[in-house]
Amino acid sequence: MSEVSLDEVVVGEHYVLTPDGKIYYPEEFTGGDEGFRALLAKEALGERRSYKRSPHIDIMKRLKLAEVEPLSDAGHLTYLPKGALVTDLLMDYSLSVVRRIGGIPVKTSIMYDLNIPAIKEHANLFGQRMYKVKPFKREFVLRYAACFGQFALLRRHYLTHRDLPLRIFELADSYRYEQRGEVTGLARPRRFYMPDLHILTAGLEEAMAEFKNIFKLIIDEGQKFGWTYYNLYNVVEDFMMERFDFLVELVRMEGKPALIYVVESGKYYWVINIEFHYIDSQGRPLETATVQIDIGNSRRFGIRYHDVDGSVKYPVILHTAIHGSVERFLYEFLEEAAKMQNSGKKPMLPVWLSPTQVRIIPVSSAYLDYAYNILLMIRDADIRVDIDDRDISLSKKVMYAEREWVPYIVVIGEKEVKSNRLTVRVRSMGGKAVEMTLDELIDRVRGELDGYPFRQLYYSERLSMRPEFI
Ligand SMILES: [Zn+2]
Repeated sequence: MSEVSLDEVVVGEHYVLTPDGKIYYPEEFTGGDEGFRALLAKEALGERRSYKRSPHIDIMKRLKLAEVEPLSDAGHLTYLPKGALVTDLLMDYSLSVVRRIGGIPVKTSIMYDLNIPAIKEHANLFGQRMYKVKPFKREFVLRYAACFGQFALLRRHYLTHRDLPLRIFELADSYRYEQRGEVTGLARPRRFYMPDLHILTAGLEEAMAEFKNIFKLIIDEGQKFGWTYYNLYNVVEDFMMERFDFLVELVRMEGKPALIYVVESGKYYWVINIEFHYIDSQGRPLETATVQIDIGNSRRFGIRYHDVDGSVKYPVILHTAIHGSVERFLYEFLEEAAKMQNSGKKPMLPVWLSPTQVRIIPVSSAYLDYAYNILLMIRDADIRVDIDDRDISLSKKVMYAEREWVPYIVVIGEKEVKSNRLTVRVRSMGGKAVEMTLDELIDRVRGELDGYPFRQLYYSERLSMRPEFI
């Protein structure tokens, strides 16, 4: 493996950068783990590996989360009640992470006038994947991210150096006309929800400091949920040459090699743009989270701030989607479940994301009242609990709960009523039956929900009264 020196680096090529600051040609680089090799193969070596249909699509259907909407365009999904609940929880979670770092939510329009030069220029950079609408004579573009709305808002308002860094956020439904052959379930829909954060900073130094924080946050978020991102740094040539130490610092924070792609200076509005790739259950990398430094759009959109000395300046703007899109965030959890399946474990969502967290199953109608009282106490602890009160056999009820991946199944019969204890089938333990008191069950579930958002069930807690959407 021969090293490449910085002055040998050319535009339009990929390189591998290692934590010790060394640069290699991708063709010669033999290091990196399986995930990195997959990224390298896809992005730099042009290898076309063949994959089966992504397992998350079947899971999405089987769990009745979402369906393709045949009455709309391809890649437009309809969320069923369970999917609406799960995606709302993901949005709540994204908002909570952004609020923790000081993000301020706004809500802006989904369409922008293509006759306005700044909109047109930005849209031209985006290319062919725009949805256009033309209600009468004027032509509008449907937003493909929340940039337009937030920039339009910021240019109308007076900003000073005291407002910076200003973190502005929107969970924006976004529209991208992806190629028909590439539209895939939650991995690449044409309509998606983007938790889009922009950070206005007073110059490149401050932008780089913010960038480092976001970079670390994205890596930590992945680790929190049990996955590692493999990263592609798109960097403009000047930035690569002048800020090489910064790139090495980032790679060191990752602690593993990164892939660099060098682009011509001045071609894009950004100087660095990192794509964080998640590796799915088939070993396929897909870009999810992203962060970039934008030096062009504040001028293009006329976003200014008044500095300490009274001079008017253009801020440097970070664009970031810490969790990619809500759809890809969900895709990651479903692919993690597919990985569990592959390794012989019972697949499941994290308890905080599971539509039903506790299912109560009375063995017969004689125990219904007792079981319902247990439900009320669990519900009072802000846990999503429901009861299978249907007139079907116990084994069918258990099978049904298993099919829904319910993390805790509580069967109630004579033994439980007499002993005042519960028999709980714990999915994360392979469905093992564990005896515990009601308080122990509540504490255990609450412990798994700590730090995550909560929403009530979106449908009746009685299975007998719930539409099945068959
Ligand atoms: Zn943006």
